[in-house]
Amino acid sequence: MNEMIDPDTANVIQDERLPATSPKCRFCDAALTQTFVDLGMSPMCESLLRADQINQMEAFYPLHTYVCGDCFLVQLESYVAPEEIFTEYAYFSSYSDSWLAHAKDYVEMAINRFGLHGSSLVVELASNDGYLLQYFIERKVPVLGIEPAQNVAKVAVERGVDTLVDFFGDALAKKLVADNKAADLIAGNNVLAQVPDLNDFVAGIKTLLKPDGVVTIEVPHLMRLMDENQFDTIYHEHFSYFSFTNAARIFSRHGMTLFDVEELPTHGGSLRLFARHDEDETKPVTERAKELEAREIAAGLNSLETYESFGQQVEATKRNLLEFLIERRREGKSIAAYGAPGKGNTLLNYCAVRTDMIAYTVDRNPYKHGMFLPGTHIPIHTPERIAETQPDYVVIMPWNLKDEIMAQLAYIREWGGKFVVFIPEVRVYD
Ligand SMILES: [Zn+2]
Repeated sequence: MNEMIDPDTANVIQDERLPATSPKCRFCDAALTQTFVDLGMSPMCESLLRADQINQMEAFYPLHTYVCGDCFLVQLESYVAPEEIFTEYAYFSSYSDSWLAHAKDYVEMAINRFGLHGSSLVVELASNDGYLLQYFIERKVPVLGIEPAQNVAKVAVERGVDTLVDFFGDALAKKLVADNKAADLIAGNNVLAQVPDLNDFVAGIKTLLKPDGVVTIEVPHLMRLMDENQFDTIYHEHFSYFSFTNAARIFSRHGMTLFDVEELPTHGGSLRLFARHDEDETKPVTERAKELEAREIAAGLNSLETYESFGQQVEATKRNLLEFLIERRREGKSIAAYGAPGKGNTLLNYCAVRTDMIAYTVDRNPYKHGMFLPGTHIPIHTPERIAETQPDYVVIMPWNLKDEIMAQLAYIREWGGKFVVFIPEVRVYD
């Protein structure tokens, strides 16, 4: 990552990549002319292939992120209709134990801090399979889930979580209010990034919220993405990437104030934003919200130059990663991977890593066994494959779970196997 980059050459390359007509900022409508990072063409990261599909055509879409020069929102164009991505969604939140524990803690915090009770209403946007709302029901607080994916919503309803199958926006919020369903608490975890019409969504939150209600929104933190080189968390389903400062700007335009924030370890570093109506002065802006805003401004998040160097850092990471793989393969070493998360696919496709570099990956999810990663066609086996083939290196794709996975696979050291992570940079663990 310490390579010298000639700024003149770098700029020429960047200009070549811009489309003839600039896309528009999803929030403020300014023309997007500044690349944040261009990760090339990539298939949708969740679209694993069956054996009978690997000789067929695959759809690839640009993974080109921009930063808006006016409002500093980092964003992707939406190439694929949300109906196509989210109406039949393969991700069931309840499959993850740590995520369930996170949800349960949140519910305790919300009930205690905001005094929710039997005549309150909690509305969750993108409520998935009811993983979160079930804990409010246990505490006798009424809930309503809104979830566009029919298959996961069905699971929620079966476990007794009242769920509306729909996309959220201002029109739906108005209908709910007319139906006497204004909310005391609106929760949205990992949904704001996935909303193509950001203004309509946030306007809907404003409409749905009772005068003294609270909104909590969890989003991956852009500052952490940049600091820790987490470019592999960029994928087509995530249209927008937020800092506290630009989220505050977006809520402010819709008459809401971010009055508090928590920094969470989830997804490599997330923010839990707390919003209220501007008029609701019963909830003063906390010191930690002011402190984070000051820290982001000091880190340069309100200055375009800060964003300009990110793409060059990512390109340098790609060269280092390929250098590592090529050198090890030249020495005759074998390399396998662990995990098949979405972030793995962004990285492998961007770096054009195929089975000649990484022979296979393994995953604990039985649904993925016998399938292939999109684009790269790396096969996914059961974890036992590692002990059978004894690779010299095991690349841990979900780097956020590195410690847990290294403990699980400690046995690879018996044959001299080593662990590797690629993010924030290539690191080998003996
Ligand atoms: Zn903008």
